[in-house]
Amino acid sequence: MKTKKTTEHFLPESSIGCQKKIVSISFGPKQCGKKVYIQAGLHADEAPGYLVATMLLEFLEQADTKGDILGEIVVVPVANPIGLSQWSGDTIQGRFDSFDNVNFNRNYPELIEQIGNKIKNRLSASQSENVALIRECTAQILADIEPAGETEFLKHLLLSLAHDADIVLDLHCDHQALLHVYMGTSLWPDASDLSAQIGAPTTLLASDSGGTPFDEANSKLWWVLAEKFPAYPIPSACLAATVELRGVTDTDMKETEQDARNIYSFLQRRGYIAGTAPKLPELLAEATPLEGVDYVTTESTGILAFLKKPGDFVRKGEPIAKLIHPMNISGSGEDVIVTSRTEGILFARCLDRFARPGKIVAKIAGKKILDGKGKKLLTS
Ligand SMILES: [Zn+2]
Repeated sequence: MKTKKTTEHFLPESSIGCQKKIVSISFGPKQCGKKVYIQAGLHADEAPGYLVATMLLEFLEQADTKGDILGEIVVVPVANPIGLSQWSGDTIQGRFDSFDNVNFNRNYPELIEQIGNKIKNRLSASQSENVALIRECTAQILADIEPAGETEFLKHLLLSLAHDADIVLDLHCDHQALLHVYMGTSLWPDASDLSAQIGAPTTLLASDSGGTPFDEANSKLWWVLAEKFPAYPIPSACLAATVELRGVTDTDMKETEQDARNIYSFLQRRGYIAGTAPKLPELLAEATPLEGVDYVTTESTGILAFLKKPGDFVRKGEPIAKLIHPMNISGSGEDVIVTSRTEGILFARCLDRFARPGKIVAKIAGKKILDGKGKKLLTS
């Protein structure tokens, strides 16, 4: 018997006559102790995730027909209709809420303190009971929150759909990039099968990226509570990852199908779908700290002529790009050379070619922690 269930979730009206919705599609047995949550398009202008989620839904539907779905799998293929409604000219501006300019993937509710207060006298020596207790308390806290406004409502809704999952995959993409993954430090190396299966040459780890993105809103509470209550067994019970499906224009259908198949195989290997997963590919590279990422930033204006592309290995001090200023006609000035502050793989670079002071034009995954990173490790 098919288990697929589609649920519509309506957001509050944003203005007269304007009400948006998201749709969650679930498969498999509910409340079975195994749950996966996957969403796409939280940054609404990032196209590849929508395609991979849609293709994955096709595969899940086929598996469902055969009765092969063993755990609950929830997919939200379009997570941010607010962002999708924000057209500027002919382009969707889906990264920042036009209302307050806040990134849609930042500032999720931090519930750790409230959860800590609720569980402090109720933890036990049983790891599984502690996991169940923390999820139950999280659900209660979420149910008591009354979000104000459309975006807060959406963030609360997405977190409510995901908070009790063992695996949360948030599908994104960068500008021009390799496939790469962000996740919590405590989740590695247990989660290295995700990076290996999807073929990510870069995995970036942080215990606290400083921005409370969606993945961390689901995962960070586990290791923080484990630190807070060291006498009790509390595992990192949610493998939450932000999966960056290359660049914004990477919508090749062969790659899309491969990405969806890889996520399917990962879930199969983890026991959420019946059948034998293919042999796990070799991990392309060990994870590196998010604190080691060099956000290569320009200090002046000019036209960017890149000397390195995504996938190139660069050394510290090596030129990444030239900045050419078209009005520098005296011939006296030399082109500005933009260099790397670390050694590692250049895994992303910007899409346009116009530099200005303070613009991030490339990202390099270094193994060593860079000085002066501060607490905000993510880009805006
Ligand atoms: Zn994104």
